[in-house]
Amino acid sequence: MKRILMVIVDGLADRPVDGKTPLSIAKKPNMDKIAAIGINGIMDTIAPGIRPGSDTAHLALLGYDPHRYYSGRGPIEAAGTGIDVKPGDVAFRVNFGTVEGEGSIFDKVVVDRRAGRISDTDELVKAVIKGVELDVEFILRRGSGHRGALVLRGEHLSDRIGDTDPHKMGAKVLKCKALDSSREAEKTAEIVNSFMEQSHRILESHPLNAERAKKGLLKANAILLRGAGMCPHVPSFEEKYGMKLAVIAGTTLIKGVGRIVGGDVIEVEGATGNRYTNLGGKVEAAVNALKTHDFVLLHFKATDELGHDGDFDGKKEFIENLDMAIRPLLELNFSEVCMIFTADHSTPVAIREHTGDPVPIAVVHEGVRTDEVKAFSEFEAYKGGLCRIQGKDAMNIALDLIDRMEKFGA
Ligand code: ZN
Ligand code: ZN
Repeated sequence: MKRILMVIVDGLADRPVDGKTPLSIAKKPNMDKIAAIGINGIMDTIAPGIRPGSDTAHLALLGYDPHRYYSGRGPIEAAGTGIDVKPGDVAFRVNFGTVEGEGSIFDKVVVDRRAGRISDTDELVKAVIKGVELDVEFILRRGSGHRGALVLRGEHLSDRIGDTDPHKMGAKVLKCKALDSSREAEKTAEIVNSFMEQSHRILESHPLNAERAKKGLLKANAILLRGAGMCPHVPSFEEKYGMKLAVIAGTTLIKGVGRIVGGDVIEVEGATGNRYTNLGGKVEAAVNALKTHDFVLLHFKATDELGHDGDFDGKKEFIENLDMAIRPLLELNFSEVCMIFTADHSTPVAIREHTGDPVPIAVVHEGVRTDEVKAFSEFEAYKGGLCRIQGKDAMNIALDLIDRMEKFGA
């Protein structure tokens, strides 16, 4: 059975600065080779001019309409931490933070949204799970550093509720409010507020925080919630395509997208999602995963971060390192494997945010109609045979190339 490898370099593309982009001037012989042996084009992952999030873009690239299946970042981050999120669950992103003041948690002020960048919250999470009692089931999981996820599971819940995280230092913790007048939203807000009070009491008196205070560290004494979303029913990748999906990514968000669609997340040691990630290990894992899975999504994150930092040279340098690391991908047997090499959106260093500018895409497979494009860049890709496509087209094009596409009509 033929297979698909989709390589997504997050935020890879740029708007030009003095006519140049990090990608266009980087030394990247392997990416250029991919362009030369493939068919090229530019791609709007959602639609022209729409600024994609990484989550919505990845859903679209996997062939899932994000307008239908995206329900906020909470469920995806929760899935990314390893929680088996189910339809009807209300999921939140979690920050362990530091609050100070007297009285109820809602009278206290957030002095740090990251609790002094606490690195290990295992014991605190355990204490909260043990001590908090709610009218519904809840699942709390730590993520990396001060991050984590919370899921409420039960009947008649709603995600039409506000954050408790004020999103800035010096502000009071927010009481969770219903955003509509439904009983479900009122009830969910009450549960959340009860969780906030109870978890704060437990954390405030936890010995680990006493120890932190003694060492002059900030206490991790509040769990701040944001991004509530209710997970819809999402057909699994296997149901949809009859293919087994593997995801190799360093960030919980992309792992979460993979888990939401029922894929296997392959953990790679040292895959951090930043520029010091284990590039070679991830590439090797992807090549191996092609032996056990029909579709492998290989994601690299640092280009996006460097775009957000506005770091032109750093982005160029990372692209060059990545290019060396992907060398083994050119050894793949392209009569068996279809490789798509692309980005999820542009994160121009000039803008420091995701933009709607289309991204370059190259598709490699034996027998593909190669074109005149010899370099992988924003300025070359549009001359290729794919012209301008949308994110949802990528999956169809690959399925067609590997003869897994069913005929439409007689
Ligand atoms: Zn992204
Ligand atoms: Zn980004």
